[in-house]
Amino acid sequence: MTKRVVVIGSGGAGLVAAITAKRAGAEVLLISKTDRGRGTCTAYSAGIFSLACCGLSPEEHYKKTMETGHYLNDPVLVKILTEEAESTFQTLIQWGVRIKMEKGSASVRATAPNGLMGGAGFIGELAAIAESEGVRFLDWTVATSLRLERGRVAGVETENWRTGKRACISSGAVILATGGGGQIYNHTDNPGRITGDGYSLASDIGAAFRDMEFVQFYPLGWAEPGFPQWMADVELVDYVRITDAKGREFLKEAMDDWGYKSGSEVSLYARDKCARLVAEKSAGGGVFAHLEDLSDDQLKDPKVQYCLTLNAEFFRNVRRPLRMAPLEHYFCGGVVIDGFGRTSVDGLYACGEVTGGVDGANRVGGNALTNIVVFGYRAGKAAAEECKKGPISLDAGELDGLHTVSEKGESPGVLRKELQEKAWEALGPVRRGRKIEEFLKYLDEFVDKKIRLETPMDRLLALEMKGLHTTAKAVAEAALKRKENLGTHWRID
Ligand SMILES: Cc1cc2nc3c(=O)[nH]c(=O)nc-3n(C[C@H](O)[C@H](O)[C@H](O)COP(=O)(O)OP(=O)(O)OC[C@H]3O[C@@H](n4cnc5c(N)ncnc54)[C@H](O)[C@@H]3O)c2cc1C
Repeated sequence: MTKRVVVIGSGGAGLVAAITAKRAGAEVLLISKTDRGRGTCTAYSAGIFSLACCGLSPEEHYKKTMETGHYLNDPVLVKILTEEAESTFQTLIQWGVRIKMEKGSASVRATAPNGLMGGAGFIGELAAIAESEGVRFLDWTVATSLRLERGRVAGVETENWRTGKRACISSGAVILATGGGGQIYNHTDNPGRITGDGYSLASDIGAAFRDMEFVQFYPLGWAEPGFPQWMADVELVDYVRITDAKGREFLKEAMDDWGYKSGSEVSLYARDKCARLVAEKSAGGGVFAHLEDLSDDQLKDPKVQYCLTLNAEFFRNVRRPLRMAPLEHYFCGGVVIDGFGRTSVDGLYACGEVTGGVDGANRVGGNALTNIVVFGYRAGKAAAEECKKGPISLDAGELDGLHTVSEKGESPGVLRKELQEKAWEALGPVRRGRKIEEFLKYLDEFVDKKIRLETPMDRLLALEMKGLHTTAKAVAEAALKRKENLGTHWRID
């Protein structure tokens, strides 16, 4: 019997799931908002994976993951992650993916077309394998809702945002691999398409969620006017003075107090407290990376380059103290899954950043990419085994967005910016109950706003509004409920 699995999202989780499902005998259709693989966090990533291999034991990886997540993690998922990562990586290597493994980690940076996006080569290789295996792609297409039949997910409604063409695709199983929701914030290193659509698709049909208040902020991001919104590795502190406005090397001092020997250890295990400290210092006068200390040769040192994450050329004429601040980086929480990627709704699977459980209250650096590989593989396999055949049908319809469309309405781009700024104020690295309540009130009123559509891009932005709204609301409600400070969630009231 032919089986059809529909995968939503062409990041690492979606591509690994699609290839696995295809190889397990399913017919696979992969829906992607952009050209396959592009504009994904996987492509933007540094391309570093944490895993038990080459001398690091699964027990050690398990211990570190649970400790870093403040034991809020799902132990079953963490056990799978830490025990199966190496063998799943070996499978990817057999497929033809170039991965270099060394003690406790793996890297795909050697295949990156530039130093900035370590994961871009990796995603290109996965997309090429998926094509050669016969996965079918529906690019430039937004999944707008999931269809239920007798309590089971039976299909996906879609819209091609460039042409406006709509379709309803029936399917035996759907895999949600839509990534996180970084774009609810104005300060994020996530690409523009990461708008929390998966949270909205899943919550519309009653799927269970967990840990939505735990949003990981990367401690150091470039905050100079005119600089790109991009992270700088915390390891930078080992090569460059990072000071507060009074010139104190507060980060180095804190690292000593916390018992970490290097910036890379902090980046692996203590992003939560580090981001909090940097956020407090930036609000109180600023945080600065002193690039004026570096000679030309030091600037070009590959280790320094890796930490700066922007090419040496970029810094040639800006050798002065450069302002830094935390950036939203990753969603620890998300859709609840079991070890096979099954959600609480029959026929719906999920994998990658859209899910919760592996990270608990704070993620180990490098675990996100390992998560997408291990659980993409498991979800692809399980969905292929479960699904049944179904026909494809096409029909046209009106925009299925959050807002009413009107000629006198506001531009969806302007509305998005407004929501992002307010989300940062209420749900950033430092939170206050009163601000969160005000933000929830704003979100209630947000849905009454009218929008006007002038270009295909406006259509896309309008479709993404639902994901942004649902995600922001889920984070706000969870953040309001959790009164104590834990992991990435920090309230000062
Ligand atoms: C700058 C940066 C550096 C990072 N570096 C690392 C690192 O070195 N190591 C590490 O472990 N982690 C890293 N991370 C985190 C890691 O990259 C991500 O968590 C991971 O790649 C997420 O993969 P994913 O497949 O779940 O989602 P993504 O790769 O983000 O892909 C999501 C896909 O879903 C699509 N999509 C969303 N909604 C819809 C919809 N409605 N319809 C159709 N398609 C949709 C998107 O367009 C996209 O194709 C980094 C993140 C960033 C931003």
